[in-house]
Amino acid sequence: MEPARSLPHTNDLATQHLWVNAKLATFDSSINIPYGLRDGWAIATRGDSIAVILPPDSPEVRSFPGGITDVGGRWITPGLIDCHTHLVYGGSRAAEWEMRLSGVPYAEIARQGGGILSTVRATRAMSEEELVSAALPRLRALAAEGVTCVEIKSGYGLTVLDELKMLRVARRLSELLAIEISPTLLAAHAVPPEFVGRADDYVGLIVEEMIPLVARERLAEAVDVFCETIAFSPAQCDRIFAAARAHGLAVKGHVEQLTNQHGAELVAHHGGWSCDHIEYLDGAGVRAMAKAGTVAVLLPGAFYFLREKQKPPVVQLRAAGVPIAVASDLNPGTSPLASIRLAMNMACILFGFTPEEALAGATREAARALGRGDRLGTLAVGKQADFLIWDVTHAAEIVCQLGVNPLVERVFRGRGVCVQS
Ligand SMILES: [Zn+2]
Repeated sequence: MEPARSLPHTNDLATQHLWVNAKLATFDSSINIPYGLRDGWAIATRGDSIAVILPPDSPEVRSFPGGITDVGGRWITPGLIDCHTHLVYGGSRAAEWEMRLSGVPYAEIARQGGGILSTVRATRAMSEEELVSAALPRLRALAAEGVTCVEIKSGYGLTVLDELKMLRVARRLSELLAIEISPTLLAAHAVPPEFVGRADDYVGLIVEEMIPLVARERLAEAVDVFCETIAFSPAQCDRIFAAARAHGLAVKGHVEQLTNQHGAELVAHHGGWSCDHIEYLDGAGVRAMAKAGTVAVLLPGAFYFLREKQKPPVVQLRAAGVPIAVASDLNPGTSPLASIRLAMNMACILFGFTPEEALAGATREAARALGRGDRLGTLAVGKQADFLIWDVTHAAEIVCQLGVNPLVERVFRGRGVCVQS
């Protein structure tokens, strides 16, 4: 195999380009072999779409009108998709983590002003520009390892102005980097200090003011909740979901992370995109998700940082045919993890995924979890041309080996950018 640097820069491609001699891990479900592999095939773009996928020695390769790159037998996968992050925030919780490691209980840390509300204070205090600057390195880290689409939640503002500010930051980030962003309103992340003991009033604010405003300004595609004993009840989440749907927004939920509140059944009842965390999901929840086609988004980073013991029911989800995605859950407190590759690795080690399931979970299934299954997540003709060229001998190496970035080229909407040269 040629060294990675032999690939030419393709920043200024014409609108058509062809990559030949590739191992295409298509993740196309209609190709019934591992990874949907097309060995030795070629893939071409026209504009921002995949125009054609060709078998070896195709005559069309010789007559191709645009530029051609021989990738020398390297692997090509769909662009990676991180379908659950909280990457816009202010401050740091590293000192709090240090306290937790030295045995200070979380309740004491919270009493001293730590925990999620410390991030809320820091985020409220920052301007839109400051939040953009703080978030950019985290987003760049994801992009550098092959992420082409990322979901970003609000949820550290908890006022009308601050939640909208966070969503505007997410929009601004999509203009600064070659990456697609799916913004989500997570106003129901925690009860803000101004509403302690009056959670229903805060839900009223979300339902009557925030959701209509966000829908009108098209600042979010979906509405998320934290359905948990320490956050919002199923009845409160139901109100929020009903309002979201009435305003044409998708729904999803942080559910069954610490206890079983039957939040997954509620999300499925509302035809939600995804149920996330779901360590405590039971059989009824699995069946409801399977019936509704709701994606399970598993977040091994939070499981790892919190030293949880209860694992999500992967075997039951598989048996029921629930699509399973994996995401970083990038956030300052419980998953300070700006790496989808590490999240995929953890999904294998901690939750028993196969490497193929992990990669499918960060491509095809993650696309479904963001309502983009028809447009992103697999290598197929007509899909958006987001794909990655890897200097690996097997696709599993992308998930297995940490600390080395084998990404050679990142193609986003048909335009390639050499990562290593
Ligand atoms: Zn989360």
